[in-house]
Amino acid sequence: MPAVKWNKLVAQERVKDVLGRVFESGALGHAYLFCGERGVGKFAAAVDLAMAVLCQCKDAAAPRPCGECPSCRRAAAYSHPDLHVIMPLCLSAEHKGGEGGALSEEGWALASASVRARIDDPYRLPRYDGIPHIPVEWVREADHAVMRGAVEGASGVAIIDGVDTMKKESANALLKTLEEPPPGMLLLLLTERVHSVLPTILSRCQTVRFPLLPPEVVGAELCGRFGISTSLNDRMAANDRITADDSITASDRVAAAAAAGSLGLAISEYENPLDEYYGHAASLWGDCLRGDWGAAAATVDGLSSGKDSYNVCRNTVSCLIRLIRAAFLRRSLSEVETRSLSEVETRKFGQGGVSMNYINPGVSGGLELPAEYGPDELSAVVRLVHGALNGLDARGNALIVMAGLVCSLMEALNVEKQ
Ligand SMILES: [Zn+2]
Repeated sequence: MPAVKWNKLVAQERVKDVLGRVFESGALGHAYLFCGERGVGKFAAAVDLAMAVLCQCKDAAAPRPCGECPSCRRAAAYSHPDLHVIMPLCLSAEHKGGEGGALSEEGWALASASVRARIDDPYRLPRYDGIPHIPVEWVREADHAVMRGAVEGASGVAIIDGVDTMKKESANALLKTLEEPPPGMLLLLLTERVHSVLPTILSRCQTVRFPLLPPEVVGAELCGRFGISTSLNDRMAANDRITADDSITASDRVAAAAAAGSLGLAISEYENPLDEYYGHAASLWGDCLRGDWGAAAATVDGLSSGKDSYNVCRNTVSCLIRLIRAAFLRRSLSEVETRSLSEVETRKFGQGGVSMNYINPGVSGGLELPAEYGPDELSAVVRLVHGALNGLDARGNALIVMAGLVCSLMEALNVEKQ
C-alpha cells in the first residue's frame, strides 16, 4: 500500500509513524481506540486515515488521501456512502421532535452539519450549551451501515467521537459490531476519558495514545492561523524562557493558550480567553484556603445561578485544575533546578528549565499552595476537583456539585490547621 498523507493531523509524529506503517503494510486492524486530551488531533487523524482508506486514486504509488479523486471529495464533503461519523450533540426540544423523543428532521440536520464542520476543521472544537451525548438512533444507524458492509469500494469507515458519552444501549449496539465487523470495515473510536470507556469496548480495540503537544508546536499553529507575528513563538522554539513579566500582547495570549498542550483548546481559548474563569477559580481556592465559608458560598452562588451555569462552572473547575498543576510545577521545578540542570542549561532556560514553558505565563502566579503540601496531598486535591468536573458532566446540579467541591476543598486544605 502507498504511504498516508497526513493533511489534517498536526504534529503527533509517533502516531503518524505507527498508523502510517500499518496502513502501508496493509495490516490495518478493524478497530482502534484513539485516546487523548480534547483537541490534540484524534479527530484529525481519524479523518486522514478514513480518507486514506477510502481514496480511489488511480496512481498506485501516490500517497493517500490524494484529495482529488471523487472519493476524497465526497469524503471531505461528508457525502461518501461508506464514511460514517457520529459525535456527541446537545439537542434542544426542536431536535427531538420525532416519535418518543427520537431525532427530528432538524436533529438529523444538526447532526450532519456538526460532522461537516468538524471534518472541515477538526481542531475547531464544537461549543456546547449543555451536556452533549450521542443520540442512540444515530449509533444504530451507523451500526446498521457498518454491518451491511461497504456499498461502493471494498472498504468503509465509521468514526465515533466521544465514545465514553454513549449510553448503555448505544454501547451494546456497538459491541456486537466490534465483535464481528464485516471485512473491509474500519472502526475508529475516539475518547478523551479512556477510563470511562466500557472494558468490553476497550478489549476489542487497539489503543493509540495521543500525547499533549509541545507548546511551541501549538504556538506556531496558532500564529499561522491567526496571522500573529511569530517573534514570541521563535523564542519558545528556541526554548527561551517566557516570563510572567512579559507584557500581555497578542503573542502572550498565544503563549497562554498554547500552554495547555492542545491545539483545539488553544484555538478556542485564544478566541475566548478564559481569564474570567481563572479569576473565579483563584478566588474560590483562596476562599477555601482561608476557610472563609461566607466568601466561598457567595462565589459558588454567583457561578451556579446564571443561565449558562454548566459552562461557567465547568470552565472554572477546569481552570482550577490547571492552576493547581501550574503552581505545583512551578514549586517543584524551582526546588530541583540547580540539581538537574547544568550551568549552561540554567543560563539558557532559566530556573526550572524548558518545562517552565508549560506553565501558562498569564495565570501561574494566581494560586498559593499550602506550604506542607507534597505530591500526595496535591494529587488527592486534583482528584477532588476532577470529581466535580465529572459531577458536572454527569448532569449534576451545578450548585450542588460546586457546594460539594467547596466542602471537600475546605476539609482537604485546612486539615493541618484543625
Ligand atoms: Zn483520493
